[in-house]
Amino acid sequence: MASRSSSNRSDRQPHHHVPLSGRTKPTSASRRSVTPTSRAHSFQADEDPGRVRVAVRLRPKNDEDVLSDDDFSDCVELQPELNRLKLRKNNWSSESYRFDEVFTETASQKRVYEVVAKPVVESVLNGYNGTIMAYGQTGTGKTYTLGKLGKDDAAGRGIMLRALEDIIGNISTSSDTIEVSYFQLYKESIQDLLAPEKTNIHINEDPKTGEVSLPGATVVKIQDLDNFLQLLQVGEGNRHAANTKMNTESSRSHAILMVHIRRAVNEKVNFGINSPEKGSRSDLFDGKDIPIVRKGKLLIVDLAGSERIDKSGSEGLLLEEAKFINLSLSSLGKCINALAENSPHIPTRDSKLTRLLRDSFGGTARTSLIITIGPSARHHAETASTIMFGQRAMRIVNTVKVKEEFDYESLCRKLENQVDNLTADIERQQKLRDDDKYELEKQLRECQENFAEANKILVTRSAEQHQLEKATYQKVLADTTQMYEKKIAELIKQIEDEHARSESVEEQLDLMKKLLSENQKSIQNHQMESSRHQNALADTTQIYEKKIAELVKQLQDEHARFEVAEEQLDLAKRLLTDHQKTMQGQKEIDELELKFQEMYQLQENTLHELQLLKSENKDLLEEKATLNEKLDSVSQRLSEEEKQRKAIENELVKLKRAVPENDNDFEDKTSYAKEDINKQSSEFGNRTGSYRSNQLRGTLSGQRATIAKICEEVGLQKILQLLASEDSDIQIHAVKVVANLAAEDINQKRIVDEGGLDALLMLLHSSENTTILRVVSGAIANLAMNEQNQGLIIDKRGAQLLAKIASKTDDPQTLRMVAGALANLCGNEKLLLLLKEDGGVKALLGMVRSGSSDVIAQVARGLANFAKCESRGIIQGHRTGRSLLMDDGALAWLIANSNTASASTRRHIELALCHLAQNEDNANDFISGGGVKVLFGISEESSREDIRNLAKKSLRLNSSLQAEMHMQW
Ligand code: ADP
Ligand code: MG
Repeated sequence: MASRSSSNRSDRQPHHHVPLSGRTKPTSASRRSVTPTSRAHSFQADEDPGRVRVAVRLRPKNDEDVLSDDDFSDCVELQPELNRLKLRKNNWSSESYRFDEVFTETASQKRVYEVVAKPVVESVLNGYNGTIMAYGQTGTGKTYTLGKLGKDDAAGRGIMLRALEDIIGNISTSSDTIEVSYFQLYKESIQDLLAPEKTNIHINEDPKTGEVSLPGATVVKIQDLDNFLQLLQVGEGNRHAANTKMNTESSRSHAILMVHIRRAVNEKVNFGINSPEKGSRSDLFDGKDIPIVRKGKLLIVDLAGSERIDKSGSEGLLLEEAKFINLSLSSLGKCINALAENSPHIPTRDSKLTRLLRDSFGGTARTSLIITIGPSARHHAETASTIMFGQRAMRIVNTVKVKEEFDYESLCRKLENQVDNLTADIERQQKLRDDDKYELEKQLRECQENFAEANKILVTRSAEQHQLEKATYQKVLADTTQMYEKKIAELIKQIEDEHARSESVEEQLDLMKKLLSENQKSIQNHQMESSRHQNALADTTQIYEKKIAELVKQLQDEHARFEVAEEQLDLAKRLLTDHQKTMQGQKEIDELELKFQEMYQLQENTLHELQLLKSENKDLLEEKATLNEKLDSVSQRLSEEEKQRKAIENELVKLKRAVPENDNDFEDKTSYAKEDINKQSSEFGNRTGSYRSNQLRGTLSGQRATIAKICEEVGLQKILQLLASEDSDIQIHAVKVVANLAAEDINQKRIVDEGGLDALLMLLHSSENTTILRVVSGAIANLAMNEQNQGLIIDKRGAQLLAKIASKTDDPQTLRMVAGALANLCGNEKLLLLLKEDGGVKALLGMVRSGSSDVIAQVARGLANFAKCESRGIIQGHRTGRSLLMDDGALAWLIANSNTASASTRRHIELALCHLAQNEDNANDFISGGGVKVLFGISEESSREDIRNLAKKSLRLNSSLQAEMHMQW
């Protein structure tokens, strides 16, 4: 018992505290007492065993307290010898409160256990319910007091461990059991700490006994302390894990350890059948009293931090969450208040915590509360509210009640044995009696026979013998008769004895019957208390009744005939069951075979499905692997591309530095038209850049090599992307690179395939930058050398764009590029009409306004290409009618410029005129425009023989022209 012996308190001054009853209170204390409870309290049970005991424990200062409370004094002052605590209100006044025990910051865990918990543990061992609970602000030592495992320091072990150690040490492991559940309550949901997957565990309340249980929670039988220590560790781990998962702190949840103890009690109750007047009965139940068990339940409750009651709402929690977290704790506070004030209504049903603790406050349990506080003045408000909670709890008085009940299960087992023994006894006695009876009857028969014989002899002799003899015989006869009569009387007495014995057995059976019915009655009485045993008992009673009825019947049926019949019946039964067994056996085999076949089929199917699933799984795995690989390579490529993009930007910057600031630094090859207008392309084509010196050409080819290298390293795609760069510098350089690449036939297809043409046309459409427009036009001109590209350019409205640039700019270099591009397009017979419709011819002719010989050369080349394509179409028969060039005034220009100074321009003009002249439908235009004379001049004076021949041929074939010529000359 944990009474506060002086040895327990040896670390302190001798205590003066005594209960109110009896000894005198220290006067100083009574005078100063301003607490609501002026009674003296103690943990000693004799004073008022039902009152909730409350101790207060002060936590030592921690680093934080030391730092922040430097200039403040503590907010509490303890007077352990008076069991008082002074709470400082301000510098001048303080309130004093009395508790059952006041622990200073130096109090050892052992003493706290012995004072607060041990009396409760002892009560639980004696069959009471008990509760030990810690209440206080977070960080004040609730868990330290209750749950500390003390792995490194055995002296640090908390109440949970010490309580179980005490319990294990006080019970008999053979007959008693300890069972433990450990769970936490958070937001009105109960989670099993021993099997954390179980959440939302249901609370069950027995409507008769009021006993609260958690049928869904894991229950672990405890064998030894190591066992329990492991369990606590598991629980602690799960609590930590659960709180991490829910993103909460353990300070917001209540942890509850529930220990059930079931002990067999040595003193046994005699079931009330051992009355003195029926002495014989006592033999029956000698030493077979009903065993008693005591069931105690210990709750150890580590409550959530009390500071949350008012504050949590303002700590960033959702309102709903705050409400739930606090519901249990605030509801506990309300119940404590109601109980302390003796209110008629206690709102225990409002929360799960108060439902669980229903028995602990205002119930039948013995309850100890330890309230924990910190020394710091910073937490004055919390400390004050904790103290008030403790003060109110001290006023609660429970009605402690032992939980003792009969162990009906073992009683039933014993009674069953007894019935079996008695049945065997009766059977044996019956057999003995039957034997005796038979023997007596035999003797009786012998006697009667003897008697009859003697009588006969007597009768025979009486006729012959004398009176004397007769008298003698008569005497002998009388003697004999007397003897036999005596013998018969004896035999009758024996039979009567037997009868009496049989009656006594009957009586015993009656007695048993009565006992059993009494037993049944008492069982019925206890049915209300023990619903669990009711069924078992009712069944057993029924069995007994049946058995007794049978026994009585057997006893009454004293004739052996019955036994024989029974034996025969048994035999018949056996035969019958044997027969049935064989019958059933065959049927079962058939059924089993059928089942086996079904199962075999099923197994086959399952195997098949399994195989399918396996192969599917394999496929999926492979697919997954390839996808993963692809993903890897794509992400690798992405990062590489990012790197390359950076590199190319750098390269471009470098390039920009390396490339002289000359707008003509890219090469265009407009003259290299793929369209085979003239086999002598080297002469026909006019390299627009031909004026450049060889030296410049050398530099250019050097740059081209660099560009090719960049392109190789960076990738065309990247360069094309840079065309859309927002930095116009980068754009210019990128365009230059593309234009230079486009000068090489081998690059053209790639540029177009990778979207370069689209990007260039886009720039043509949107850019205002002269350099860009010029270089883009050059690039397009280069691309337009390829027949396929020509189609694409026209399709993508490139001719319109080029025409727009032609009308917009006066920059001769740009015009040269645009003219070159259009000239190249003129070389595609299929596109002529579209080109004209898109304004290409008009734009071409419009550009001669610049007066630049380079531009004019391109115009001439374009017209020559156009005219040649038309005449070829006419020759091949798929083109008729007047030339498309006529509407836009091409002929007039050609005629007017046929004497131009540049040789190559002149050749193109001459060629254009020759081809146009081949078309009969152009004759009128030629005649009215004065072209016949010019054509004639060409046929005579052209510097090239092939052109001269072509002109002659045109004049010869075109009859209208010929007629005109003859008219003129
Ligand atoms: P609570 O459970 O009330 O939130 P804890 O038990 O977790 O508080 O205690 C908070 C801290 O204070 C812990 O580090 C604990 O070790 C320490 N502590 C609490 N009480 C004591 C005490 N009586 N002696 C020494 N340290 C203590
Ligand atoms: Mg804690």
